[in-house]
Amino acid sequence: MKTYEKRKGNRKFDEMREIRAEVGVIKSADGSAMFQIGDTIAIAAVRGPRELHPRFLQNPQTAILRCNYDMASFSVPERKRPGPSRRSVEISLVTGKALSQVLDLAQYPNTVVDVFIVIVQANAGTRCAGITAASMALAHAGISMKNLVSSISVGKVGDKIVVDLDKDEEDFEGGATDIPVAMTSGGDITLLQLDGEITKPELMKAIELAKKSCEKITEVQKKALKDFYKEEK
Ligand code: UDP
Repeated sequence: MKTYEKRKGNRKFDEMREIRAEVGVIKSADGSAMFQIGDTIAIAAVRGPRELHPRFLQNPQTAILRCNYDMASFSVPERKRPGPSRRSVEISLVTGKALSQVLDLAQYPNTVVDVFIVIVQANAGTRCAGITAASMALAHAGISMKNLVSSISVGKVGDKIVVDLDKDEEDFEGGATDIPVAMTSGGDITLLQLDGEITKPELMKAIELAKKSCEKITEVQKKALKDFYKEEK
């Protein structure tokens, strides 16, 4: 296994890229947020809860959460073909699962809550940035929720356990081990995907690193929400 010596910009192995979060970025939505980590930028907009049509799809017990993840064609150096793909369908699905556990959807029977995520700039970790932005947008939309959800990718690059892999690291030596993780602010894991090879002790170390990083992201999410309401007054 090749030794991984140094990260770009002297970043420590347990250090995330620079983070920025903002709430209320899309005026036409019921809730919206932006989350940036390094060169990856996700925008999330929420519409709803509103009556679901066609009506036979309605559930009298609960609202239905619909998530749509999309990467803009200009988000990567090599133009991404516009429109849905197997990848975007999969990411939309896991995003919904990562978020739904904290939402009290039973409060909104017969309705739908739509979450639209657009990645406007991508340099790895886009599903995590999307989930983090969507959680803030749902809170901003006033949807009843028990906790926030934050998300980060951890993994193994060469011989090192690292947090927040960038694109070069994901591609290191033909492919690193990439583990996107989402956690509630209550500490429950709502997403864990594993692409690559890792031993059990290394995985436990990576999850611990994800937990610490998600706690830091939660603080940034809370601050962005507080700042929005402070400015509103
Ligand atoms: N990517 C790309 N074109 C695509 C899909 C992905 O250039 O059509 C890049 C983009 O930088 C993305 C990265 O590959 O962030 C890793 O994609 P992956 O499917 O692992 O998901 P992510 O790490 O973004 O959640």
